[in-house]
Amino acid sequence: MSAPNIETIVSLSKRRGFVFPASEIYGGLGSSWDYGSLGVELANNIKNAWWRWLVHERDDIEGLDSSIIQNRLVWKYSGHETTFSDPLVDCRACKGRFRQDKLQDVKCPNEPSVCAGSGKECDLTEAREFNLMFRTTIGAVAAEDDESALAYLRPETAQGIFINFKNVLDTSRRKLPFGIAQIGKSFRNEVTPGNFIFRTREFEQMEMEYFCRPEDAPRLHQEMIDGFQEWFQSLGISGNNLKLYEQTKEELAHYAERTVDILYRYFPEREDEDKQWDELMGIANRTNFDLRTHSKKPEIDGKRINSDSTEDLSYFDEATKERFYPYVIEPAAGVNRLLLAILMDAYTEKTNDKGETRVILKLKPELAPIKVAVLPLAKNKPEIVSLAKQIKKDLQPAMRAVYDDTGGIGKLYARQDEIGTPFCITVDHESLEDNAVTVRDRDTWAQERVKVSELKEHLQKRLQK
Ligand code: ATP
Repeated sequence: MSAPNIETIVSLSKRRGFVFPASEIYGGLGSSWDYGSLGVELANNIKNAWWRWLVHERDDIEGLDSSIIQNRLVWKYSGHETTFSDPLVDCRACKGRFRQDKLQDVKCPNEPSVCAGSGKECDLTEAREFNLMFRTTIGAVAAEDDESALAYLRPETAQGIFINFKNVLDTSRRKLPFGIAQIGKSFRNEVTPGNFIFRTREFEQMEMEYFCRPEDAPRLHQEMIDGFQEWFQSLGISGNNLKLYEQTKEELAHYAERTVDILYRYFPEREDEDKQWDELMGIANRTNFDLRTHSKKPEIDGKRINSDSTEDLSYFDEATKERFYPYVIEPAAGVNRLLLAILMDAYTEKTNDKGETRVILKLKPELAPIKVAVLPLAKNKPEIVSLAKQIKKDLQPAMRAVYDDTGGIGKLYARQDEIGTPFCITVDHESLEDNAVTVRDRDTWAQERVKVSELKEHLQKRLQK
């Protein structure tokens, strides 16, 4: 089972503290969200899992953390100033503003007179290009419209990697193929954000640029596509809710030779199966466009001369004595979209023996915000409380543990099930005699008695599954 729709996750998130609407006490700010105590833990666990799998467990990837605000020239030569835009249309009938290529997915603000695809006639203007980069100015003296002080918030983390290619190459002494990975915030002034955290104007990306010889790029691209499909499943996402989409020639970005998107079933409630899916990540073969465009050398054919860059970002292959611009394979995933997919996929409902429906978030232990909750069966009994608190303290260095005595045991179990905590530990009267506690499993609700002295090892073993 997975969540029947995104709304179910929106209300769970608000109820339990994963995600809140941003600026809520001032009426909110369209499509901005704040991550609460559980949301920030889950997001951190997702980023750590990505980093560990890609940077630590492989031997060919370096990490990087580049600035959000870069020299404006980065965005000039990357092509973002001229081409990073969406086609925008206005509707004269409803006064709505839409992305022309997403008209099918949006609703008219004049509901119930839904324009897109039904009922009332839309009266759309011609499309015009709307640049998605957020503009800002740098320096205390800069006037709002001072072109010389103009800067952008980055719309992708990738460019920070390309402009550091030589720095990383020289300091790491890498040889091709190798990659540079980065996690960080990106900003896009989206025309039609929405669907909770699926599309927002401020979001976080996990990107990696894998540099290789041009002839190796198609094979490495395919390996990356296969690898990420498996990785998502290793995080607990069902293969039935993932599929690949091969971008058509018309859809490909101008620099890309081939791009494959991994889609997730974000909209299972939609009748038309095709419309249930949307992009979780993109994996592109960006050719050698970026390294070439940021290089000071002119092209052989004389085109695209960069007169501002101070570096040539070509690579010299010692073995073949060739100098060339490496090709780049780019897997780019959104932290927020992955977090949403993980929450949706982990969502299950179970009926207890009283016939009540309980929500269980079957998160992989690795991702669960809290690994274990220590619960005293009687909070008015000081010996029980103090033993429970001591157990929490002893477990904490090894795993995220919490102590909770804010309700009856049934309520406490239900709360932990709903936020995906794999184990609850109950300290009861008997614990004071036998120095053992009850370990309850989130998914099966099975209970087991474990000696306090063996508890840490016991849990560590089970958390690895
Ligand atoms: P879309 O077609 O949905 O606008 P995109 O193809 O422009 O996405 P990319 O530029 O390939 O997206 O960015 C890589 C990843 O970053 C996406 O697959 C997605 O997970 C994430 N991402 C992009 N834009 C947003 C956004 N506005 N909000 C949340 N995540 C985003």
